[in-house]
Amino acid sequence: PGPQLPFDPEKKTLVILGSGWGATSLLNTLDTTDYNVVIISPKNFFLFTPLLPSVAVGTLNPHSIIQPTRYVTRHKARQVSVVEAEATDVDPINKTVTFKDTSEIKGLVSSTTISYDYLVYAVGAEVQTFNIPGVRERACFMKELADAERFKSEFLDCVETAAFPGQDPKEIDRLLHIVVVGGGPTGVELSGELHDFLEDDLKSWYPELAGRIRITLVEALPSVLPMFSKQLIEYTESTFKESKIEILTKTMVKEVKEQSVVLQMPDKSIQEVPCGLVIWAAGNKGRKLTQDLMAKLPNDQTNRRGITVDDHLRVKGTDGSMFAIGDCTATSYAPTAQVASQQGAYLARMLHQLAKQDTLTQRLAQLEKVVPEDASAQDPETKKVLDEKQDIKRQLAKVKLRPFHYSHQGSLAYIGSEKAIADLPFSHGNFATGGVATYLFWRSAYLSTLFSLRNRTLVATDWLKVKLFGRLLFE
Ligand code: FAD
Ligand code: NAD
Repeated sequence: PGPQLPFDPEKKTLVILGSGWGATSLLNTLDTTDYNVVIISPKNFFLFTPLLPSVAVGTLNPHSIIQPTRYVTRHKARQVSVVEAEATDVDPINKTVTFKDTSEIKGLVSSTTISYDYLVYAVGAEVQTFNIPGVRERACFMKELADAERFKSEFLDCVETAAFPGQDPKEIDRLLHIVVVGGGPTGVELSGELHDFLEDDLKSWYPELAGRIRITLVEALPSVLPMFSKQLIEYTESTFKESKIEILTKTMVKEVKEQSVVLQMPDKSIQEVPCGLVIWAAGNKGRKLTQDLMAKLPNDQTNRRGITVDDHLRVKGTDGSMFAIGDCTATSYAPTAQVASQQGAYLARMLHQLAKQDTLTQRLAQLEKVVPEDASAQDPETKKVLDEKQDIKRQLAKVKLRPFHYSHQGSLAYIGSEKAIADLPFSHGNFATGGVATYLFWRSAYLSTLFSLRNRTLVATDWLKVKLFGRLLFE
């Protein structure tokens, strides 16, 4: 047999599914000496999603915003198994996980099933397409690193194709029309970054074309960024107006065609708008694995938005051995990195308490077998055991499994033109601010949130390089 997972029969096995915000935050705080820890994810790295739109326009190098999972685990007190694979089945009754190597290169063994004592389900969500025709086949998403890289190359291809000698003027306008679907923070931030790229770089690279590039942001609701305060929505709308980014609200994309998008306008009329590229940022939905898992717990898992958990993030309908965190859950919190990372850190502390509780309970059961509760304390050996039992009970009573409490640190978004918006909670309400100073705050907030000094250095260096030499589009 080849490499085996590190296993100590004295310890319980903790399996973590995912290597995103929830799982990585958990791993950062987890005391790995408590468990046999196995982390399974099809991506063997953590992706810092808030800076993904910056990668899409070449402000940041893709490597600057990813952190290999092994970079975290190699500093841990006890070895953690990192498995690059996709979980394909989770069985909450028999407590097993089946996973498969879905990468291109496969060995003789590429699928297996392992048992767990505790499972942390942190697989995130996938892009919601609402089964709108053409979206999956033709639109570019903005969720994974590969999406940002795809956007970069397709956008540039549109520009180069428009620059082809003798290109028809109408065709040039089509190719240079970029439609962003979804006025949530992803769509807004990408539009803002794209505008900066146009102003700072494309105007000098393609002076004859840059003025013809158009960005349209399409949002089905009456306004963009519904989660921000009214004044910041207005500030974003006016900044976009100045930046010549057109916002179409109360407008719904009905189809994505090869060379156009079909829009349902506010008056319900249908318009077909020619465009070169469509970016789809219309929100999330649960993964198939999550839907399959929920179907195995039909009495407790009925929320279409995702997995229902209790106050301690335990999956409802299981025996307390499975936890779910982040975007795969349906809670009262928004599906954000902030929530997922706080849940991950909370769970690490909770799992430490559980390990303590489990060890004490096991020891108590052992002692119970040697000296039952009603034994007489005459004999000194028996007395010693009874004292130890009393002590364990006292320690067990002290183990407190507190419920999860979310502390909102505020919402931040970059809107282009070196401006950002921030809704920050204060003791007496909310502080809404937008502008260049907020942009500097946005930069420093994300720089300090990056998980490692290595990433912080890489991102800061990229920003400096862009200031000095412009964006990195041709690499
Ligand atoms: P994810 O971070 O998505 O991680 C899921 C993990 O599960 C991934 O590692 C994935 O590879 C893995 N996985 C998938 N399928 C399987 C499987 N079958 N088996 C095992 N593993 C699997 N939030 C903010 O708070 N602030 C922001 O500024 C912000 N900006 C964002 C910008 C963009 C462009 C995007 C797309 C999102 C942004 N978000 C932001 C939202 C934030 O990224 C998510 O809320 C957060 O990633 C959720 O964390 P998670 O751990 O639940 O899921
Ligand atoms: P979202 O769900 O916040 O926004 C998607 C938008 O697309 C919605 O407003 C919806 O009305 C619109 N939409 C859906 N279908 C449409 C259609 N057919 N035509 C037109 N519009 C359509 O999605 P998101 O922006 O990707 O954000 C996902 C989560 O990540 C949110 O919780 C968000 O807060 C978080 N996030 C936060 C930040 C930040 O804090 N800076 C950045 C990115 C994402």
